[in-house]
Amino acid sequence: MQENICSIPVNDVFLPKDRCPMCRMREMLEERKAEYITGSAMMEPSVRIKTNEQGFCFRHFEQMVRLGKRLSNALILESHLQQISEQFVPVVPPKKPDKKKMAALGAMLGDCFICRDLKQNMENMVRIVHAMWISEPEFRQLYSEQQFICLEHFYLLMNIDQKGLGKSYQAFYEETSRLTGTYIKKLTEDVHHFASMTDYRSIGSNNWAGTKDSIERSIEFLTGELIPTEDMEEFEEEEE
Ligand SMILES: [Zn+2]
Ligand SMILES: [Zn+2]
Repeated sequence: MQENICSIPVNDVFLPKDRCPMCRMREMLEERKAEYITGSAMMEPSVRIKTNEQGFCFRHFEQMVRLGKRLSNALILESHLQQISEQFVPVVPPKKPDKKKMAALGAMLGDCFICRDLKQNMENMVRIVHAMWISEPEFRQLYSEQQFICLEHFYLLMNIDQKGLGKSYQAFYEETSRLTGTYIKKLTEDVHHFASMTDYRSIGSNNWAGTKDSIERSIEFLTGELIPTEDMEEFEEEEE
């Protein structure tokens, strides 16, 4: 069973106008995949062969544990561990380490079944966004009202299938640059203000101007990962 990515409602993903819409799209796709692997695909031999071979990164293991049944996760891990043991790290090792196997283990450590799938699906989503931006004026309007496009997705939107944009390439570039560039400027000002608040000249001032989370927002923009709020509360306590 393969889920249909066309069922992702692009308009709905862009409607909240909060954070990067492509990050929200990625979250939707990867959570669906994590649910699929620990759900209906769990006993599918063709999927299991791949998950045994490719494994998962921490981010996606975490999602599988959070969204899937513990039994499903245990069964997936059992056969994955078994295969690693047989292929790469036998209890009684051969006389000499097998260089090819070591290289294959190195490759597996950098691999992830969900990341692979996500890369392909996000590229397809970019093509859909391009097509909608060209043909639907309402979507073009909605696109222009986004809070920002993060750096990774600025790169993706500008570099996947440029030909598909045709004559609209320059206009799309200008609009996307405006969204990403304006936000970089705001983040720069925010971290500057935040830093100046720790200066002796600011003693007694409580004018944070909404910049207390500027470090977290900058990291989110640069990496697509949001530091969880529980951790942020700790930072705030430190500050006080
Ligand atoms: Zn993004
Ligand atoms: Zn991954």
